[in-house]
Amino acid sequence: KLFEDCGFSPALMNAIKKQGYEKPTTIQCQALPIILSGRDIIGIAKTGSGKTAAFVLPMIVHIMDQPELEKEEGPIGVICAPTRELAHQIYLEAKKFSKNDGIRVAAVYGGMSKLDQLKELKTGCEIVVATPGRLIDMLKMKAVTMTRATYLVLDEADRMFDLGFEPQIRSIVGQIRPDRQTLLFSATMPYKVERLAREILGDPIRVTV
Ligand code: AMP
Repeated sequence: KLFEDCGFSPALMNAIKKQGYEKPTTIQCQALPIILSGRDIIGIAKTGSGKTAAFVLPMIVHIMDQPELEKEEGPIGVICAPTRELAHQIYLEAKKFSKNDGIRVAAVYGGMSKLDQLKELKTGCEIVVATPGRLIDMLKMKAVTMTRATYLVLDEADRMFDLGFEPQIRSIVGQIRPDRQTLLFSATMPYKVERLAREILGDPIRVTV
């Protein structure tokens, strides 16, 4: 399987080549066609598998496919991750792949001043990478609106549950329109994560690596 088979734009193919990614990893081979077809997915995969690109690349395609939404604000793609370290890694990966298409990525997690994040959100973005707690803060402050969001990724869902983020995740999901595409990645699938997946994903395809 090749990246060339995914129907990516020349700009995105260039970004992939620039990263030195020659061929998709196992999770990318399995997940990319499913996600690109618009289906919801449960990806059971660990860090190191290449799962970040598996959800970031189709997110770029999803955003580029959106018709111009006049006066609409707020992110189209929302990624939630358990820790600021992981969120930052995802942020860097998302930046690399979105640059060529002029897609703006905002970081919403600890370690940065809330004021800087407020400013970043105010100038506009198509992708938000967030930890659940900080994203809830920003939603409460009305610094960000989810009216345009149609692509939601929950990364390392089991760790987010371990850290007690279930209420925040449910609140965030509840603010994103139901006609979204939802992707859930987790290293393990304990009962609580399975239950959430059943509630918030629509007829998901399960992929395990
Ligand atoms: P991840 O599991 O998303 O944290 O990715 C682990 C590492 O693999 C990161 O350093 C990525 O940049 C790298 N990576 C992801 N996809 C590919 C690929 N198709 N070819 C080579 N390296 C990759």
